[in-house]
Formats: sequence, C-alpha cells, structure tokens
Amino acid sequence: MAEMKKVIYPGSFDPPTLGHLNIVQRATGMFDHVVVAMGNNLSKTPSFSLEERVELFKIVTKNIKNVVVMPFEGLLVDFAKEQNADFILRGIRNIFEFEKENLQAQVNRQLSGLETLYLTVDEKYRLISSTLVKEIAFYGKRLAGFVPDEIEEMVFERLGNIIKK
Ligand code: ADP
Repeated sequence: MAEMKKVIYPGSFDPPTLGHLNIVQRATGMFDHVVVAMGNNLSKTPSFSLEERVELFKIVTKNIKNVVVMPFEGLLVDFAKEQNADFILRGIRNIFEFEKENLQAQVNRQLSGLETLYLTVDEKYRLISSTLVKEIAFYGKRLAGFVPDEIEEMVFERLGNIIKK
C-alpha cells in the first residue's frame, strides 16, 4: 500500500470563509488526510469562540470524507507531531503574506523538522479575509459570496449580536 499522507491546515478561521474552504477542497485532492487545526492566534482577539469556529468548519466540510476539524492549544508543531502530520499547509494571498509565512515556516522547520507547503489562493477568493467578513457584517450587509452558504446566516447573526452589545 502506498504511504498515506496527512497534512495539517492551521489557522484561526474567525470565521471560516469561502477562501479557507477552497484551500481545504484542493488539499483533499492532494493528500489522504486533511486536519483543519483551529487555534488561537496570540496577536488576535477572536470574535467566535474556539468551539464555535470548530463547529462552523465542521458544518462546511461535512460532506468531505478525508477532513477532520480539531481545536488545538499550544504550539502548532507539537500538535502536528501529535497528529503524525507529514506537512503543514498554508494559503498565500499576496507577497506580504508570503514574507510572513516564509519566516514562520523557517521557525517551524527549525523546531520540528516539519516542512510547510503553500497553495496560492484562487483569484476569486484573493480579497476575502475573516476581517473583511466582520467589517461587512458590521455595516449590516449580508455575507453571501464571502462565507459558505450553510453558515452565512449563523455568522451574520452572530456578528450582528456581538456588535449590538
Ligand atoms: P491565521 O490567523 O493563522 O493567519 P487565518 O484564519 O487568517 O489564520 O488563515 C488561515 C489560513 O488560510 C492561512 O494560511 C491564510 O493564508 C489562509 N487564507 C486566509 N484567507 C484566505 C482566502 N481568502 N483564500 C485562501 N486562503 C486563505
């Protein structure tokens, strides 16, 4: 049997967007297993709790067989090792992101020996970010075309409530 390859796709996914989902869909065709690893970015305060983000990503990937969605705490490389991941996967939208990711990949390789692979973001989703999604909801606009349909209402309502408080 050919060796099974497992990739770990980490992020804060606060909330998940169509861009994130596109990366996962493409990765599922390239690897045997894809682990979406939901973390807390120390430099960002999340709008959705870790549990909510895991739930949202599970909803949008429920029909994809080789994807699991898991929360993690602590260092990504420790979690990746625990999961026996072969690679770390990240999406790259632009050169600024490339610069930042390049540094992160170097650190992760140094810490664990794990390599980071990148997928360039599909042109259709290049401008989408979780931050943009939050801004759109802040001004009361619906999120169709930015987040997957199955979670649009939930994300819109939830962000509306945060803002009203
Ligand atoms: P982090 O806080 O770790 O940067 P994000 O949730 O912002 O996590 O992003 C997770 C991953 O998804 C990153 O690799 C990021 O580059 C990628 N990503 C973000 N937005 C998009 C998008 N619109 N299309 C594809 N990939 C994206």
